[in-house]
Amino acid sequence: MSEFLLPDEPLKQVYLDANATTPVLPCIADVVSHTMQICFGNPSSPHISGIQAKHLLEQTRDKARAVIGAKNGDILFTSGATEGIQTAVVSTLINAKKHTIKNPVLLYGATEHKAVPNTLKHWNNVLEINAQVLAIPVDSNGILDLDFIAKHINNALMICTMAVNNETGVYQNLAAIEQTIRSRNNNVSWMVDCVQALGKQALVLSDTTIDYAPFSGHKLYAPKGIGLLYIKSGSAYTPFIAGGGQESGMRSGTENLPGIAGLNKLFSLLLDKTDDTFKSLDTLNSYRSELHEALKNTFGDITFNHSFEHSVPTTLNFAVNDLTSKEVIDLFDAAGIRVSGGSACSTGAAQSFVLDAMGASKWQSENAIRLSFGPAATQQDITYACERIRALKQILQANCLIVSDSTTPQQEVCALGLTQFRHQGACSWLYVSDDKHAVIIDPIIELIPRFEKIANTQNLKVAAVLNTHKHQERESATQLLTSVLAHRVVKGEVDALGWPINLATITLTNDVLEKVATPGHSKDSVSYLLKNSAGETRYCFCGDLILPAGLGNTSLKGGDAKAMAQSILTLSKQLTNKSIICSGHDYQQCFAMNWAVQQKQTPLLSALKNNDISIDEFALQKQQYDALKQVNNTQLCGYVNALPEIDTQQLSFKDAKAMLSTDSTYLIDTREPYEHGATNVAHLFNTPNANTLNIPLSRMANAVFEGQLNKNNTYILLCRSGNRSKIAANNLMQLGYKTVYNLNGGLALSN
Ligand code: PLP
Repeated sequence: MSEFLLPDEPLKQVYLDANATTPVLPCIADVVSHTMQICFGNPSSPHISGIQAKHLLEQTRDKARAVIGAKNGDILFTSGATEGIQTAVVSTLINAKKHTIKNPVLLYGATEHKAVPNTLKHWNNVLEINAQVLAIPVDSNGILDLDFIAKHINNALMICTMAVNNETGVYQNLAAIEQTIRSRNNNVSWMVDCVQALGKQALVLSDTTIDYAPFSGHKLYAPKGIGLLYIKSGSAYTPFIAGGGQESGMRSGTENLPGIAGLNKLFSLLLDKTDDTFKSLDTLNSYRSELHEALKNTFGDITFNHSFEHSVPTTLNFAVNDLTSKEVIDLFDAAGIRVSGGSACSTGAAQSFVLDAMGASKWQSENAIRLSFGPAATQQDITYACERIRALKQILQANCLIVSDSTTPQQEVCALGLTQFRHQGACSWLYVSDDKHAVIIDPIIELIPRFEKIANTQNLKVAAVLNTHKHQERESATQLLTSVLAHRVVKGEVDALGWPINLATITLTNDVLEKVATPGHSKDSVSYLLKNSAGETRYCFCGDLILPAGLGNTSLKGGDAKAMAQSILTLSKQLTNKSIICSGHDYQQCFAMNWAVQQKQTPLLSALKNNDISIDEFALQKQQYDALKQVNNTQLCGYVNALPEIDTQQLSFKDAKAMLSTDSTYLIDTREPYEHGATNVAHLFNTPNANTLNIPLSRMANAVFEGQLNKNNTYILLCRSGNRSKIAANNLMQLGYKTVYNLNGGLALSN
């Protein structure tokens, strides 16, 4: 794998998440620091220090007017955009308390930042306005529906729109919105969230009828905790924060002078025509093209979730066809490239409400990646970012994440032995024998592209695609996968669950796979046992009969608790304490579970097995348990016991590094191989390569069974944040490994 490691030097972080926040520019940090240490006066003080502070404050306000084109109106310094939004909404709604509209509405764009609808709903309730809060739909380009606005604007107390969207960079035609509003309603209060427009679009606010426009410093190289609100002359206003009367009584509290000084410097840069810190639109467009090329070159098939024509150039929102956003983000992060899921607030599987509103597919919405750069990015930054993105291609190929165009694809995830694949608590299993014959058990539809790539890249012969019971989605996944891999699947007739009807066993090099009927969760449930040449069961694929620390549900159609008891007894005769239990779900995040630990963690199962209770007693207890659990439980396919909390021993980076200087201490990187391949972990810890193992959670069961780990050794587990590795450390300790430590805070705190 070493050829896929990036160079030994710790890599510079590539930050491509500017829509979430930006670093403070050094020249801005200098003035902030100066204001904290030297020009630290209170603008309300009458002495010279105070007068200097007051001068800075007012000078910044004047510069703000110039930047946002606000000759008239008020400019108020706030803690950020969220406060600006509160102030605008509260001012409007208090003023609207005595309205005479019959069915009042509060309108907001469906793709607005959550701060807007949540603020509207909150104050609508608190102030008992009782208006209907209505989202204005957008089209597939994210552009607001003007007809909808036209239809509702006469009943509106307020309308909130945004200049530029934070997830997609889509900008609105403010002139067209204004025309639609004002040709019908001159009085309605109009707020435009300008947070993502500053520095990317020219603004002349006092030429418009916009009543309120909030801004935020940290989105454009100023510190967090400072922002401003523009208020048109004559628009409703109620102070949101009362107190000592600062800001002419409009917003009390001693002003955040260091933050304001930061804005002052930022505005100077924006206004200085001779300064090239902020790049022209043409330059930003060329940066976007370069990043687009690098992404296409690295990932092949990508789908953009917005049209470039309608977006500012600093945001690229896309989905990599066939890869989940988690895989892409984890890979980027491991390689030191920071991007976010569709929305900075919801990295991971959650769908993006912005993309949903634009009518994107579920796949696009769940797997959106947002890459954003600031308008002060240099050509050097972008060239370096593109280089680093391109360097990921090798890692993607080596891990079967994209089909390799190399004639000798590397084997990484590659599949020899057992690999677990998960999708939202459901598990699929892939077993590949030494002669590259594969069986896939309980495939999940979302994982089909992954299996397809692995099988094609690794040149696997697929001996069978099996289900452990009929499951509506699973059945179609089996059929789909079998047809996608038709040229690799061994020909012959199969039964309803995929087993070749003319075979008693499937041979996999020296092992054999057997099918055993194990009804209980459903009538047709079976288990598949992979046995070695001595007849011992290595892996037991038992579907939803047994789940880690629990048992399958028997209260679904076809469920039968007595049959389950019988099946457990049948299976138990075929299992050894070391047999690995491979279930259809893993709600407890156990990853690797052997029969010995399974019994310990499932009292009902062990009572039955040890003859402490009869089959009838088991059935009665199980039925009662299932009936009880069925209420309010989302773990439909089975119910599991809470695992005993194991006090995982936590290590700091410094302590871990010191411990790794001893021979019998090993570092286990529990991240996926594509992440491991992107970080030189051995180098980071100054430990020999030989003392560094990569055992992702998906391969934990394989590692435990194959004796890759030794109970006499000390293991330090790591991942990106310390969360995944903590689960793995727990898992190993349950399995009897005693000296297992977790790297506290993971790689994120390793420097
Ligand atoms: N509006 C938009 C469009 C944003 O992107 C954000 C920040 O993510 C906000 C409002 C909230 O800004 P702040 O963090 O300054 O409260």
